[in-house]
Amino acid sequence: EQPLNKQHIIMLPFMAQGHLIPFLDLAYNMLNHNQNIIITIVNSPLNINYLCSAVSKHAFPTSQLHLKSLPFNSSDHGLPPNSENTDGLGLTQIIKLFTASLALEPAFRGFLSDIIKGGGSPPVIISDVFMGWANEVAKDMGIRNYSFTTGGAYGTAAYCSIWLNLPHKNLVTGETYDQFHVPGFPDTCRFEISQLHQFLQAADGKDEWSRFFQTQISLSMESNGWLCNTVEEIEALGLEVLRNYVKVPVWCVGPLLPIKMLKKNVGWDTGYGLIGQRSGKEPSIRPENCIEWLDAHPEGSVLYISFGSQNTISETQMMELAKGLEESKKPFIWVIRPPIGFDLKGEFRPEWLPLGFEDRIGKQGLMVHNWAPQLEILCHRSTGAFLTHCGWNSVMESLSQAVPLIGWPLAAEQGYNAKMLVEEMGVCVVLTRGVHSRLEKEEVRSVIEAVMDKSEDGKGESMRKKASELGDMIRTSIEMNKGSSYKAMNDFMSTIISRSI
Ligand code: UDP
Repeated sequence: EQPLNKQHIIMLPFMAQGHLIPFLDLAYNMLNHNQNIIITIVNSPLNINYLCSAVSKHAFPTSQLHLKSLPFNSSDHGLPPNSENTDGLGLTQIIKLFTASLALEPAFRGFLSDIIKGGGSPPVIISDVFMGWANEVAKDMGIRNYSFTTGGAYGTAAYCSIWLNLPHKNLVTGETYDQFHVPGFPDTCRFEISQLHQFLQAADGKDEWSRFFQTQISLSMESNGWLCNTVEEIEALGLEVLRNYVKVPVWCVGPLLPIKMLKKNVGWDTGYGLIGQRSGKEPSIRPENCIEWLDAHPEGSVLYISFGSQNTISETQMMELAKGLEESKKPFIWVIRPPIGFDLKGEFRPEWLPLGFEDRIGKQGLMVHNWAPQLEILCHRSTGAFLTHCGWNSVMESLSQAVPLIGWPLAAEQGYNAKMLVEEMGVCVVLTRGVHSRLEKEEVRSVIEAVMDKSEDGKGESMRKKASELGDMIRTSIEMNKGSSYKAMNDFMSTIISRSI
């Protein structure tokens, strides 16, 4: 039921961990800014369970934040039972999940029409860029819809433009697969085919992936405005391109991270639970044990390795990564899961790592199976670099803590994020791309050594300096009444709150 004196905001994230988490953070952020709203996040039943578990860890007034599940049965869409987000799904199944997400529409429509019939001021929708169909629903019902991209500006602009234009399939004179122009980007900014995810490399405009993304992105571009999980000051080029491209207002309301992470001098020592997990997933190691392990290492000495919530690497790559790590002799925390082609939720087999690896590394490394308390690790002063797939949440989490990156983009817009982190920000070195690349242990060792090198005029130092400047900008952006993201959020809230309230 909708209290008549509050603006109702309906949020519709895409069905993936990396989308649900920032949507929830956006909800908290909006509630912090304005008490005159109520929010309902809608999704499939299992994802609502995830959110429920995440919400239960926050002390937020539940009267203002509601969760609503819409009926969804993954088996109806050729997916394994209980597959309601991308966790554990292979590529061929992921496209089924994308297509299956369209099936939420009738129940979403019904839910909205009940709210509208209930009276009060019309609700406003904030939908995922991948759920462009919500914009059509909004138009049919005469209400406003805003699109939220959980990515950054540069990555989102590249992702949208490449899907809609397929520039690598339409090379013009002077362009090659490793030197092509993406409409909307300056001519000097050339892209390479290996920066595109494998299903996009193969897309021809008629395949299932193209049909899904071209339709959903085009629909989202007709919404009333876009919200972006970034900070105005850190992505000048990306924002210029995105704004020119989508042609509707773009509000930068990032970083959507737990506030404790962003306040200076508030680190781990404030106690577990204050930063807290962003997701509803339980880490496979007690955060206290992770912290204890980090406490025993010098400042900035530990490499953290994780490929996000849904990606993994190949068996041969895993072997070379392990060997390179061991030879680098640097301390590391590695979030490890079965390699590509194996059940991601299945048992981990010792033969995927060099013989005797775990015994030999002893105190040098901490292996965490499946899921680690990432925020706590990145906030710890011993963490000196992050080997990441460059998922946007991981990027923002890392930069907010001034931790430089080693990039290994695997999917989605991660290749463009990595490109920007290298070319525009100077805070990243790309180790390799994708799951088919040949990776040698020597490269692993030399990249780790360069990034973690402490010499004053070395590459590592210049990356740390830039990461530290970006970290300052990110944390300043949320300052009350002054920061750019704070002001953008206020502006967005006054735009969406109906005049009649
Ligand atoms: N994450 C985590 N523990 C892990 C792996 C990931 O807490 O072991 C969190 C991470 O902090 C981030 C999210 O999961 O908030 C991953 O989002 P990202 O955009 O980086 O990548 P995606 O999973 O969407 O590919």
